[in-house]
This record gives sequence, C-alpha cells and structure tokens, in this order.
Amino acid sequence: MTKLYNIKNLTRHNLREWMNKKAKTKTQVQAFRADQIFYWLYQQRVGSFAEMHNLGKGMRKLLEENFWISSLKKSEKLHSRDGSIKYRLLLEDGKNIESVFMPHTSHNTVCISSQVGCGMGCDFCMTGTMGLVRNLKTSEIIDQVLAVSEDLPAGKKLRNIVFMGMGEPFHNYQNLMQALEILTDEHGFNFSQRRITVSTSGLLPKIRRFGKENIKPNLAISLNGVTDEIRSRLMPVNNAYNLEQLMKVCREFPLESRRRITFEYILIRDLTDSIEDAKGLIRLLHGLKFKINLIPYNSDPRNKYQAPSQKQARKFQKYLLDHDVVAPLRISKGQDIHGACGQLVVTEKQRSQVGEKNKTIANVMEC
Ligand code: SF4
Repeated sequence: MTKLYNIKNLTRHNLREWMNKKAKTKTQVQAFRADQIFYWLYQQRVGSFAEMHNLGKGMRKLLEENFWISSLKKSEKLHSRDGSIKYRLLLEDGKNIESVFMPHTSHNTVCISSQVGCGMGCDFCMTGTMGLVRNLKTSEIIDQVLAVSEDLPAGKKLRNIVFMGMGEPFHNYQNLMQALEILTDEHGFNFSQRRITVSTSGLLPKIRRFGKENIKPNLAISLNGVTDEIRSRLMPVNNAYNLEQLMKVCREFPLESRRRITFEYILIRDLTDSIEDAKGLIRLLHGLKFKINLIPYNSDPRNKYQAPSQKQARKFQKYLLDHDVVAPLRISKGQDIHGACGQLVVTEKQRSQVGEKNKTIANVMEC
C-alpha cells in the first residue's frame, strides 16, 4: 500500500510538478488542478478531498490514494484578560507547540512557532530552556494559522503573522521558506508579504540568504543589548556573530522602498533600560532604516531578570522619540497566560499532563 504524504508539505509549484509527472501516464490529470486544490485547502479550508467538488471523481480518488490532509488539535486554550489567546497545539508525534492570537482594534495578529523548543539558549527566554526538540514541518507551520483562524468570529480575519513564537525560524530555513510560499501564494492563503514578519536572533548567513529570496516578508532582529558584553550574556548567538558583524549585514540587507528592519529590544531592569543604553542604541543603528520595538521584560518567577518600572520604560522610549527614532513600546499581550514574548514553553510536566488529558479523551471515545 502506498504511504500517504501530507499534501500541506507541498507548495503549489511542488504539487504541479507531481501532477505533471502523473499526467504522463494518466491523461485526466492536468497541472492546473494544483490551483484548484490550493483554493480548497487554503481558501475554503476543507478537511477532505471529497469536499473538493469541482475536481472530477478520478482526480479525487488519485489524491486520496496518495495524500492526506493534516490539521492540529488544540490541546489547550488559555484566554487572557487583554483578549489574546494562547493555544497549545498537539503535533502528530505527541509533541506540543504554542501559538498566540493577539487582537488589536483594527486588525488581528497571530504569533506562530517554527520549532519545538529552541536551541539558541537566550537567557531571558523560557522557550530557550527547552533546548531544541525538533524543527516543524511546513504543514505544522501553516496549520497553526488555520487552527487559530477557525476560532475567529464570522467576518473576522487574521491580518498579520509574526514568526516570534517558539524557535529560531532561520534554523528551520527550508520549511520556513516553503511555509512563506504557501502563506503568500495568491491561490493559497494570499497574505501580503508586508503583513508577515520573520524574527531572528541574528544568524548572519541566513539573513544574507533571506535578503536574496523572491518572497520578502519583514525582517526583525532580536537585539536586546548594545554592547557585546551584555548581548552575549543575554544571547549566546552573539559569541558567534557579534554586533559589528550583525550591523554590517544589516547595512547590506536589500530593503525595498518604505521598508525598514525592526529591531526588538527587551527592557530589563538595571540591565538594558538605562538612558546610556538608549544612547548606545541610537549610535549602533545610525545610518540604517529601522524601527525599534521596545518590549518590557515580562517578570517570570522561572527566570532571574526583572521587569523595568513603567516610568523607566517610558523614559527610555521618550529619549528615542526625542531623537526621531520610531520606537513603539509594546505592552506585551497575554502576560497572565504566559503567552507574552519569551514566555512560550512546554515543559516535560506539561507535556505529560497533555498526554494524560489526551489519554482520558481517547478512553472516553473508546467506551
Ligand atoms: S528568544 Fe527566540 S531565539 Fe532566543 S531562545 Fe527564545 S525562541 Fe529561541
């Protein structure tokens, strides 16, 4: 029996190639069917080939014989007071990832994961404590968008996607790029490239490669320190690629008109939140087209760092604004559900609890 392949791991281009190969032996197979299949998968969001009504019976049978359609189960859903929702999503192999839905007055954003855990070891980040468990498949990346979308009230849509959940997206480069292709494909999700942001800790060879791609989402870089000493303490990646090297690559990064690089800067009490640090930021980024997202650290009993005072965070921001730097202060959403920046983590204990919960569901279903 043929092993079924998850169709969501294929871009439309891949699917066309597959169709073309089949067309040599089966005349009823036409490459343009790939467009229709994408429409059903990502615009109509059906869960079976039987629902793809405008495909002939033969084609539907061929698809059923070769592919299956994945979806992610929601193993947990936590609602924050601020309206954001953290989803724990169950993968096929029993592992879990987290995605966060964040409503804004004018639009909705989803923050998605690219890996189970993360190998970058940033000292302020709970995901980093998990280590890297594995890369997500293309299907697992895009299924997060589908899982969150299906919970939206009628008429509401996701507008923005940010790759700022669990994982370093550039460590999973190929699957990331395939997912971006499907997300921006006009026959697929049809998201605007400008509405997608990929955030990296600063893997320089991949930033260079990303700049040469045809698909051009926004680039965000997690900066978090203005000296090598502080940045290396917070982010081990700085030992491999220091600030001078990072700034050189940023200066060479090909930006389209009216685009800029976003630098994320985490404000940690008495470590990164002084006016000297604000001055250092301006010096460091001088000459670049950029904006800075200021993210007050979310105090977490599981970590040693402290949140800045509101007064200090405002003072820091004011200094930047007074020097004509675009620097929104991001009030992190989902803090009360550990869904805010750097708080996404699935511990062994939680994993086994989820396992237990699923076992219970399975037992109930068997009864
Ligand atoms: S901040 Fe990002 S890159 Fe660093 S450990 Fe956390 S998830 Fe990984």
